[in-house]
Amino acid sequence: MQPFLLVSAALFALQAGSPAREAAPAERSQVAQPKSDGAPRLGRWKVVGRSGRDWEATLFLLRREDDAYSGHLLWRTTSGAEASGREAVTGTFDQGTRLLALSGREIVDAVGNITHAEYRARSEDDGRSLVEGTWGGGSVVPGTWSAVWERTSEAARTPSFSFHSHELYNLHHFLYQCAKSAARRDGERVAGRPVTVVELDAVDALEGDERYAWLAAVDYYRRELIALDLLFDRRMYALKQLLTGIEDADGEWPAGIEEEHVLALRAALPVYRARFWPAHDAANRGWIATAVDALERHEAELVERMTSAYGGSWPPPPVRVDLCAYANWAGAYTTGGPAHVTLSSTDADNGGHGALETLVHEASHTPEMIGALRDALAAAYAARGAEPPDDLWHLFLFVTAGESVRRTLAGAGVEGYVHYGERAGVYARGAWAGQFPLLLEPWTAFLDGEINRATALARIAEAID
Ligand SMILES: [Zn+2]
Repeated sequence: MQPFLLVSAALFALQAGSPAREAAPAERSQVAQPKSDGAPRLGRWKVVGRSGRDWEATLFLLRREDDAYSGHLLWRTTSGAEASGREAVTGTFDQGTRLLALSGREIVDAVGNITHAEYRARSEDDGRSLVEGTWGGGSVVPGTWSAVWERTSEAARTPSFSFHSHELYNLHHFLYQCAKSAARRDGERVAGRPVTVVELDAVDALEGDERYAWLAAVDYYRRELIALDLLFDRRMYALKQLLTGIEDADGEWPAGIEEEHVLALRAALPVYRARFWPAHDAANRGWIATAVDALERHEAELVERMTSAYGGSWPPPPVRVDLCAYANWAGAYTTGGPAHVTLSSTDADNGGHGALETLVHEASHTPEMIGALRDALAAAYAARGAEPPDDLWHLFLFVTAGESVRRTLAGAGVEGYVHYGERAGVYARGAWAGQFPLLLEPWTAFLDGEINRATALARIAEAID
């Protein structure tokens, strides 16, 4: 627990967002974690191989649709000439022969003389081992490999982000929102904008031991936790650190979680696994797979646009992003020390190309990113003996993230992207309604390279009291 960092997290709070949105996780569940059909599991694999030189890799199997797979390999040599790269792979699994066949599509961030390959291996151990692996094709020196599935919530990794679908952390948020909904239904005053929980009927339909365990857990959250804000409260901050640190929910849990809370979570976990987690996990992994596709095309340019606009730097990569069926009322929130984004996979505003904006928006909340701009903004106001209006920095953040995504997509031939701030009505709300047009003109002139940052900020400080 680091109070200073908690304070900084609070300063960088997600302040604006859209109210409750209808979302149906089941409709977006196009990707499901394989049950016990022997197919390789989705998630992270540790790979070791040999082909003249020794090599090792982290394989992320990211998406499965029927027997089609896609993912990426992060690999490097461990003997001989140094070589490494990130290789996107697609392939198929044959139920009859239990053979997984993956083809490398392209390699980025390549070091050394390397090329993409064809990989084949047999799935064993209930989809947790890949054995008798071979690789070859084209100009590759043929070789052998094997892999073991790792019990971790990490589902994918890009240069700037590490994406997770974490069972207990999802359960925690789901119980929190179920408890808020139950309290509202009983006419209690509940802080924060409502989040629509689409599974309430399914919860009501639980029977017997399942019903007892679930309602007891919801009752604990209602009594102890729903009065606390997921972002601002110290106890909730400590809880998120503890819960995300548990990779095996069936194993030992760290000290620090209240005993009654542990009992509630442990009792609710089998119900969650049986009834809700498969759909939530599938929604999370589907969201991640789509976002990673978009990041493979746009990440480098987006990060460059964002950091140069702020005069800041990307926080130590990769930034951890936890996908949850339910996050907070705003659809996403970020805490510091280190940067950690929690993002709703079922929130429509986080979908499509909006995923890119949500990701860079949330990463912008870190001091490394927005800190330099906040200082420069304060200096521009100080020059005329004033202070910036509250939350004006956050309007900069919205506009910079939206505009960076719009420009990056337009450069790739995707026209007409609309900022989240516009889609969700954030720019039209409260004081921002008047400030937005006064900020937009000088700030886009800066982003266009027509004026420098200091000139833009000086004009904004003159225009907005
Ligand atoms: Zn924000």
